[in-house]
Amino acid sequence: MQKRLHNLHQDSLDSLTAELDMLRQLIAESAPFPDAEQQLALTRIIPGITMKEWDELSEAGGFSEWFAINLDNSSFHNLTNLQRVIDELTRRSERDPLTGLYNKQAFENKLLMELQRVERSNGQLSLAIIDLDNFKNINDTYGHHCGDEVIRTLADLLDASTRGYDHAARVGGEEFALLLPGAGPLRAKAMLDRLCSMFADTYIKCKEATVQCTFSAGVASLKGRNTATGHDLFNIADKALYQAKNAGKNQVHVTRQLIEFEYDRSTMVHSNEKQFLFSGSK
Ligand code: GH3
Ligand code: MG
Ligand code: MG
Repeated sequence: MQKRLHNLHQDSLDSLTAELDMLRQLIAESAPFPDAEQQLALTRIIPGITMKEWDELSEAGGFSEWFAINLDNSSFHNLTNLQRVIDELTRRSERDPLTGLYNKQAFENKLLMELQRVERSNGQLSLAIIDLDNFKNINDTYGHHCGDEVIRTLADLLDASTRGYDHAARVGGEEFALLLPGAGPLRAKAMLDRLCSMFADTYIKCKEATVQCTFSAGVASLKGRNTATGHDLFNIADKALYQAKNAGKNQVHVTRQLIEFEYDRSTMVHSNEKQFLFSGSK
């Protein structure tokens, strides 16, 4: 339990580092005139972090340009409450109400962020699209409530079995997406295979019956600097999913189509264009 708490805390610090990293990049891109008269201070209250931890994080991440103030609940009550309300509203706008996973819009934002990070860090990224098999039969045989229970069960499994920096989302009725930063095709395949057999072995309790269900998944991976958009990644993972369905379902197909996609500056799509292309694809 102690270890889990420690890991959760480490995950939060890691995601704070990622957020600040991303912000630094966006600020550098959108505010290229440091001497201009117009100025803005950004404030972000971060619960659960000590000044000592911030100092370590700041040194490790090179965040010395950020100015940190020690707040405590009693002296900054209103400010802390305001941040709590903002956090809750943000959480609700990003989540699917049935499962609590990210919704499609929030997932697209995460994907965009991770694509930019891969571009900068020369890392790897995998996207899995997961679709329940013969799900219509479950609804038809046991009712919509039972179908909902199956959806929730898979969502819980995805949430519990992925790492803190992976992103799981419900992107359609019985369709999910998993974004695995740092994972190449082999690691992604191993992870999805494990989830696939765990889910197939799960007994799901509905009101009138206990049911079992399976899923199929398609995975697309990319590595290093490349011109692929979120839209490309989705399309390629979707094709792999189609192959998994055609090959008999209850399995995972991986494509290496985008690996080491040749980096060509002259045709590189700017991140704003990526946003447009991706949003325009819905
Ligand atoms: P396949 O293996 O080819 O994916 O077949 P399938 O039956 O899973 O796919 P199909 O697209 O034919 O059916 C999907 C069904 O999912 C149809 C729709 O009624 C159901 N569905 C979509 N959203 C929800 C939901 O939120 N709750 C429930 N219970 N069912 C849903
Ligand atoms: Mg479907
Ligand atoms: Mg289906």
